[in-house]
Amino acid sequence: MESVGERLLSLIMSSMMELIDAVWYLKRDIVSSGFDAALERLAQEVPMTIHAYPSGTQCWTWKVPEQWDCQAAYLETLDGKKIIDAADHPLHVVSYSLPYDGVVSRDELLPHIYTHPRRPTAIPFVFKYYDRTWGMCCTQAVKESLTEPAYRVVIRTTFTPGKLKVGEVVIPGQSEESFMLVAHLCHPAMVNDDLSGVVVGLDVARELLAQAAAGHQLYYTYRLLILPETIGSVAYLSHHEDLIPKMAGGLFLEMVGNNSAHALQGSYQTQSQVDRCFNACIKALDPDGYAGDFRTIIDNDERQFNAPGVRVPMLSLSRVEPYGSPTRPYPEYHSSDDSPAIIDEDRLSATRDLVLRMLEAWEQNQYVVNHFKGEIFCAAYGIWIDYRVNPEGHRLLFRVMDACDGEHTVADIAAELKASYFVVWEIVSLLESKGLVSYSRTPHSTSPRRSQ
Ligand SMILES: [Zn+2]
Repeated sequence: MESVGERLLSLIMSSMMELIDAVWYLKRDIVSSGFDAALERLAQEVPMTIHAYPSGTQCWTWKVPEQWDCQAAYLETLDGKKIIDAADHPLHVVSYSLPYDGVVSRDELLPHIYTHPRRPTAIPFVFKYYDRTWGMCCTQAVKESLTEPAYRVVIRTTFTPGKLKVGEVVIPGQSEESFMLVAHLCHPAMVNDDLSGVVVGLDVARELLAQAAAGHQLYYTYRLLILPETIGSVAYLSHHEDLIPKMAGGLFLEMVGNNSAHALQGSYQTQSQVDRCFNACIKALDPDGYAGDFRTIIDNDERQFNAPGVRVPMLSLSRVEPYGSPTRPYPEYHSSDDSPAIIDEDRLSATRDLVLRMLEAWEQNQYVVNHFKGEIFCAAYGIWIDYRVNPEGHRLLFRVMDACDGEHTVADIAAELKASYFVVWEIVSLLESKGLVSYSRTPHSTSPRRSQ
């Protein structure tokens, strides 16, 4: 059997931008041949299992849709002059548009023509997955040029029994408890939403695999899922119910390539260990970053993981602009302007490094068990945090020591003290190096039991 290292050697190692360039323009509608082609290209980069769910498969209250492909879509004048043509850009046709072939009056046509509400010069991304109709998309100027009494519409699309695909990369840890990383690969010819999250997730997975190959034993098992949004998560979860109780937490990655600070959205379970841990990390890792509660920054597949009957605490990391910004979530959102031009490798790398640092904190996060009683006689142990180098650490030293009782994790202590995870970790590590505390994956109270 091949070792992880041997398997890694047989893989292609493209940069995140090279991967984006290779797949971004594919017609990656939720169940489509373009989506499958993109997933197959990514599977050349990392050992990946591809799960397939046939059209019509029941997934809890949802059903896998049919495969949709577009062979041609155009709008022309009655004398044959093409006005809109999906051959020029995949977004010119509504995703999951019904086929149509016929002459329509201008009044009949206009409700089927979509423009972008904020970007008149861009083609909008419009999808009608469950609302069966036909439609085309164009710039505001093209729509305004439609002054003739009638036009000919040709939309050749097919709805066929296909398979919804979910790519899964597993990095085994010591424990079967899993941490889920999720990003969506659907959305034709767009990049930030959410190919950016896919390539960052893939690069994080590659780094974790490289660490494992180098002999660094991870505690948690990591699972990266690359899927079509919403239905992809529901399909995977409903077919892996046995894994759900072992999912300790997760992070949804989306819109991480645009030029804004990081935004961390909490899970439904605001006091979960992963919420506490990541919340205590974000400001230290991106001083301009911000955090918000569940469903207050951007909604996506983390909803399926947080939902009733599942209840995996899944946070979301993006670079979404805060409420109040007129260009929220980002200026080029759901338009033909969401192209590789608005992304760069440095920002993707910064997000990848931030995620890796948060996962490192997550791996470290354990209950801190005291081997001392009473307040520590610090001078005897030479415990000293220089206030000139680390003023926050100096001030926090005694507050942290108070909480080392086997009932608090590092993240609990950081949350309680509203302190940076890394500062608390530094203090706890100092205590551990002196033999004053040790770590436990489960609570281990050292308080005496007394009757009320
Ligand atoms: Zn989207």
